[in-house]
Amino acid sequence: MKTIVVGAGIAGASAAFHLTEMGVEVHIVDSDAPGRATYAGAGIICPWLSKNHDQQYQTLSFAAFRYYEPLVTRLKALGQSGIQYDLVGGLAVAESRDQLGPIVQRLEKHLDDGVKEVGHVRVLDKGGPRELFPYLDSRLAGVYLTGAARLSGESIRTALLHAATQAGARKLSGKAVLERSGDSVVGIRLNGDLLRADSIIVTGGSWSADLCRPLGIELNLEPQRGQIIHLKVEESGTSSWPVIVPVLNDYYLLAFPDSRVVVGATRETGSGFDARVTAGGVAEVLREGLAIAPDLAKATLAEVRVGLRPMTRDDLPLIGRPAQLQGLIIATGMGRYGLTIGPYVGRLAAHLAAGQLTEIDLTPYKPDRRV
Ligand SMILES: Cc1cc2nc3c(=O)[nH]c(=O)nc-3n(C[C@H](O)[C@H](O)[C@H](O)COP(=O)(O)OP(=O)(O)OC[C@H]3O[C@@H](n4cnc5c(N)ncnc54)[C@H](O)[C@@H]3O)c2cc1C
Repeated sequence: MKTIVVGAGIAGASAAFHLTEMGVEVHIVDSDAPGRATYAGAGIICPWLSKNHDQQYQTLSFAAFRYYEPLVTRLKALGQSGIQYDLVGGLAVAESRDQLGPIVQRLEKHLDDGVKEVGHVRVLDKGGPRELFPYLDSRLAGVYLTGAARLSGESIRTALLHAATQAGARKLSGKAVLERSGDSVVGIRLNGDLLRADSIIVTGGSWSADLCRPLGIELNLEPQRGQIIHLKVEESGTSSWPVIVPVLNDYYLLAFPDSRVVVGATRETGSGFDARVTAGGVAEVLREGLAIAPDLAKATLAEVRVGLRPMTRDDLPLIGRPAQLQGLIIATGMGRYGLTIGPYVGRLAAHLAAGQLTEIDLTPYKPDRRV
């Protein structure tokens, strides 16, 4: 059996890796389009405080969180070093303790429901958050939870791809076009050549709608530009700082071990595929970031990344087989939480391609559903 994976972001890299684990022959192709979301993604893994309250989505995202530990362990056992995934804990901050009540209630509800991965939850008085993340405004109060992780999306994408290619997957470059014959997708056209396969998995992120349109499949999907800023600070002890989760507003902070503080991000609906850094985007992110962490004004502005989030109108991912075509599987539309759910979604797509049962019900995520 042979499968082609189109798109080597976090979802495609995971699909390719899991297919090789099942002994399936895999080709994975990527066009290196500017704006790959996985490269720009901040790296907050904390589904317990997600803005998406859909019950079935919760089941999916909680399972995805649980899957990270065994996946990272497996990749390390296969010799993949350099994965940056750490359970550093998370903080939601607010100007007053009163604003924190609903956040605490939400976390306690998860704990009452037996979701032990949320970890320990602690309310911090004004000044408490700054003791954990030194650049925060000392007037902020917060809720701290131990069960939140920090991830470099690019590090896990690279590890998944390396592990897949070491196990025999072939990595190809170029922009793929889906090839149809009758009511089946039979392969891809790449750089003029036809490559046939039994299954094609589309993990093309925001570009997936353009990929599927010529087949008459209209995906409910559009790109949303996110501009995100990487700062360098003088401290060296940044590796243990918790992620500052966006709960009361849309902006967040997190730190990586190399004295890097990441501030994000814009949410530019209607951006199309324009992956430029804009003056307005940088101004917005700095204004909002410095509002909660004013001392970051003295940090060095090291880099601005831009990613196109694959957004759906109902905020649910697109996972499964479209009804009208054989041989095609779609796994995209992960929006603002794709680093959290991407490895798990890629694995679900691999199970579909291999004809295996998936461990969760994918009905709510039908890729050709009407919204
Ligand atoms: C600024 C920002 C911050 C974010 N922060 C977080 C966060 O903290 N936590 C979280 O969980 N999520 C976060 N996300 C969301 C997450 O990054 C995305 O949902 C996720 O990376 C999407 O992964 P993907 O594999 O679907 O798509 P992508 O990473 O966009 O990959 C798609 C790939 O497909 C390729 N491709 C497309 N069409 C073709 C074709 N025809 N032929 C060949 N290749 C093709 C493209 O070149 C691309 O490499 C953030 C996103 C952004 C932009």
